[in-house]
Amino acid sequence: MAQADVALSRALGLSELAPRVVQSEIRAMTVACDAVGGVNLAQGVCDTEVPAVVAEGAQRAIRDGLNIYTRLDGIPRLRKAIAAKVERTLGLVVDPDREVLVTNGVTGGLHAAAMALLNPGDEVLVFEPFYGYHVSTLKSLRVTPVLVGLEAPDWRLDLDAVRAAITPKTRAVVVNTPSNPAGKVFTRAELEGLAAIAQEHELFIFTDEIYEHFIYGGAQHVSPATIPGMRERTILMSGFSKTYSVTGWRIGYLIADPKWVGAIGYFHDLTYVCAPAPLQQGVADGVEMLGPEFYAELARDHEAKRTMIVDALRVAGMKPHVPDGAYYVLASAENLPGATAAEKARALLAETGVAAVAGSAFFRPGKGEDLLRFCFAKKDADLAEACRRLKGFKA
Ligand code: PLP
Repeated sequence: MAQADVALSRALGLSELAPRVVQSEIRAMTVACDAVGGVNLAQGVCDTEVPAVVAEGAQRAIRDGLNIYTRLDGIPRLRKAIAAKVERTLGLVVDPDREVLVTNGVTGGLHAAAMALLNPGDEVLVFEPFYGYHVSTLKSLRVTPVLVGLEAPDWRLDLDAVRAAITPKTRAVVVNTPSNPAGKVFTRAELEGLAAIAQEHELFIFTDEIYEHFIYGGAQHVSPATIPGMRERTILMSGFSKTYSVTGWRIGYLIADPKWVGAIGYFHDLTYVCAPAPLQQGVADGVEMLGPEFYAELARDHEAKRTMIVDALRVAGMKPHVPDGAYYVLASAENLPGATAAEKARALLAETGVAAVAGSAFFRPGKGEDLLRFCFAKKDADLAEACRRLKGFKA
């Protein structure tokens, strides 16, 4: 960090890292959108319904008095249900007592895993475009994120670029599949190539599979932990925020070799103690009772929403990158007025009342200035209104 910044933070009584922490562009757009009563396609909060079994399960748990701390690794029933789920969906057999940690979302899981497995000064590869929390979480622990670019239009993984980014300090790679913001779904071949590199250089793979059930058009979700030889070095993270539309509940999970789970659980306990107790019960009901049809319908519904937004963006002349997964579209802002993506996002909001996020939020400085990200996990009526507005606009 620059000496001037260090001096400034000291003068302000802040830590050396604090000045880097600014209001996220996503939140800023949400505030700007609320101010004009617009349709918010900026923030990735799904405003679709919470499954009834999940909501009722949590309400029942509160009424039944299940409101106190749980074990630091989560209630046994949820850990068992998660183990059964990963076996059913990924073919991964895990021990619910030794290999599963219930976390405060992927966010809490990643923070605890990084605390347990990385040291200040270590380097971790992160693919760009990236999800801001991955980069910021690493920086907050004085770990250096090293960006490896994925190139549009297909965001193909360049294994030579991965090799070139590795130094003696590299300890891990973050793999977000399907990804936010590009909707990239890593193929088995790409993950096999990455696995070979991880094995050669003894790297951890930190996964973020929060969008695992949002997969479209024949793409397939492959969990890096299922690639032969990768189980031990993969810290698998996923959760229920998106699948059950409960982003505010803070329930996720981490699966790893027992060698790592103890230390990761220790750090998770220090920050969170446990994931919210009655909400763990509600989510356990969902994982136990919702069958494959629920997840298939979730993907179908979102694929239809994807078609709506992609069509509208095409009509608006904002060439969209059609995602294979997750629920965001990166679209071209080339023809919008403004020197930066942030200005272009504000111009679009002013013209149409539709809020999107500046693409620059997902790239290193100077990149992503001609892109906007639109979230399509919205109720059909709201999404239809946003699409109507976009179609009436010509970039
Ligand atoms: N990971 C990605 C890629 C996300 O886009 C988000 C939310 O937008 C999260 C993690 C947050 O997950 P959680 O709510 O489980 O912390």
